[in-house]
Amino acid sequence: MEKLNKEKKQCSKQVYPKEQWGSFHGHQCRITKNIIMRNGKSYCRIHDPVREEAKRQERQKKWDKENKKSREDSLRFFAMSKACQGVSTEDLETIKVKDLLELIRGEDI
Ligand SMILES: [Zn+2]
Repeated sequence: MEKLNKEKKQCSKQVYPKEQWGSFHGHQCRITKNIIMRNGKSYCRIHDPVREEAKRQERQKKWDKENKKSREDSLRFFAMSKACQGVSTEDLETIKVKDLLELIRGEDI
């Protein structure tokens, strides 16, 4: 961990307001409290690149997890559709998965 700079410095990060057209009106971050130095540049706690990178990785992990789940859901759906081929809608509406599996196995024999 780098030491907090005790001098009164301002965060060097250029910030852009979130409102419409905000991206055309960037200005330097006004925070002067708890300024930290990274590679000769000053940052507030919010814009600390190390912290931002950690947050980015955390978000990435979350996305990866969600993507994996969504992929598994599609595969499951695909497998189910395949398994249900040839079974009438009427049967599907009345039988449980266990019964369905037995029905499929029975057909294979
Ligand atoms: Zn800042």
